[in-house]
Amino acid sequence: MNLDHIAETYVKLVLAVGVHDESYVDAYIGPAAWRDDAKTQAVPLNTLLAQADALIAHSKSLPPAPQDQTERHVFLGLQIAAVRAHIAFLNGTVLPFDEESKVLYDAVSPTLTPADLDKTLAELDGLLPGEGDLNQRLSHYNKQFEIPRDKLDAVFSAAINEARARTRRYIALPDNESFSVEYVSGKVWSAYNWYKGNSHSLIEVNTDFPMFISRAIDLASHEAYPGHHVFNVLIENELVKEKGWIEYAIYPLYSPMSFLAEGSANYGIEVAFPHVERMAFEKEVLFPLAGIDPEKAERYYQIQAVLQRLSYAGNMVAKRYLDGEIDRETAINMLMTYSLSDAERSAQRIRFIEKLRSYVINYNLGQDVVQAYIEQRAGKQDQEKRWAVLTDLLRQPKSASMMLT
Ligand SMILES: [Zn+2]
Repeated sequence: MNLDHIAETYVKLVLAVGVHDESYVDAYIGPAAWRDDAKTQAVPLNTLLAQADALIAHSKSLPPAPQDQTERHVFLGLQIAAVRAHIAFLNGTVLPFDEESKVLYDAVSPTLTPADLDKTLAELDGLLPGEGDLNQRLSHYNKQFEIPRDKLDAVFSAAINEARARTRRYIALPDNESFSVEYVSGKVWSAYNWYKGNSHSLIEVNTDFPMFISRAIDLASHEAYPGHHVFNVLIENELVKEKGWIEYAIYPLYSPMSFLAEGSANYGIEVAFPHVERMAFEKEVLFPLAGIDPEKAERYYQIQAVLQRLSYAGNMVAKRYLDGEIDRETAINMLMTYSLSDAERSAQRIRFIEKLRSYVINYNLGQDVVQAYIEQRAGKQDQEKRWAVLTDLLRQPKSASMMLT
């Protein structure tokens, strides 16, 4: 078996796993016949496990790849290991949180205790108006930053068009790349990018919960420019079509691809909208479009920056809950205390954690690892360089351990 052959076998294996778990194949742009073949019968999980083991052995015994394919080989090896772990999971093998994230995402989140978060909570205590319960105060304060439902599309469209214009200044994208936006409900996520191939994405925005003004740019950048949509466009055009690296025609959700996808999509927000430029655009365009007083923007974003530091609380709660250290109710209460999300949001968050498990680390740890990788090479100030390193990373995907070495 050579690398291309291993790649093809991997794609077919992921398709076969997708027959057992419909959330597994996040995007597929490979030959339709392969997918149709996979769907004709459900291959037993034990058989798939044996196939994964054989593929791992083949990949390991492959002689060193030529220079330009070394990273391709390493990354594919990690992807295959993640497929194996997910087959085992579907077959009943549930790993402890950290072991699971290691094999699925090639990363382990730092262990946090509530005490680590107390300092940040104290800081918020000084920033939020009122007294007493922080969660209620934040919830009350945030109300004035809700985008009214009838203005949501105008605000989100403005954000996404701006993110697109900024991204296209630095990343050459095909002329036909496009996206559409739909508003949906009843989901565990707040937005989702479905990549459809031919440089097109469907972006779904969940309207179950109020959308706050900070989410407009966050979602526009994360889901689309330079986030998921751009990543998929580059993969399709440069890796699958130009290089013929067929493994990139499929995206298994629980794999190192997601660590890079979520991490770069989150860090991409700041690349597309450095703080000063973001504040200007928020005050001049988005706040007025949403009918929110732009005078309130500075304090609001100061608070957002502090809240950002609480994001690892979600990993802590997910780990404790999934490892069986705390029950569901305690987990929801901890999210309310340490993530400061209200009761309904916390319940939604728990449903997300139950469904996607250690996937949660991809957002914050992913962002931090991608940020460190890019800033080590480009610094914080040189925008052009930052875009260049980000683009290279998306064109030649690296896992967490590859970025950290
Ligand atoms: Zn995402």
